Amino acid sequence: MKAIEILNIHNLKRTSCREGIIEVVITAKQALSENEIRERLAGNYDRTTFYRSFKTLEEHKIIHKIVVDNQLVKYALDNAVTHKNEHAHFYCNECNTVKCLENVPVQQYQLPDGYFDVETEVLIKGTCANCKNQASN
Ligand SMILES: [Zn+2]
Ligand SMILES: [Zn+2]
Repeated sequence: MKAIEILNIHNLKRTSCREGIIEVVITAKQALSENEIRERLAGNYDRTTFYRSFKTLEEHKIIHKIVVDNQLVKYALDNAVTHKNEHAHFYCNECNTVKCLENVPVQQYQLPDGYFDVETEVLIKGTCANCKNQASN
C-alpha cells in the first residue's frame, strides 16, 4: 500500500510531510525512533510540522509505538493499515534494533477476576537472526 492510499483510508489530507513519514516507515526494515524517521525524511520540515504530522499519524493509528524502555521508543506501521493481528515485538540486545514479529500473535492472558485489559504489549529481548548468523560465521 502507498502512503497516499493510507491517508485516504483514514480521511486525512495529503501533505508531503505526512506522506514522507509514512514512506519512511513503510520502507524501513525495522522499527525506527522519532529521530531516525526525521533523519530519513527527504524534505526539510521544521520541528513543529514534523511533530504535528507525526502525532496525527500516531493518533490515527497509522504508526504504532513500541516502548523498549524510557530511553528507547520506536515506531512501525500499524496493524490497522497492514491488517495484521496484534503482534509481539523483538528487541535485539546486540544491534539494538526493534522488529515487528508479525507472525507471532499476542496471546490472551487469563486475568484475575475484576481485571479488564485494554491492550497487551509483548516485547521479547534477545539476539536477532542477523546477529546470530554473524556470530556463527
Ligand atoms: Zn541484531
Ligand atoms: Zn509492530
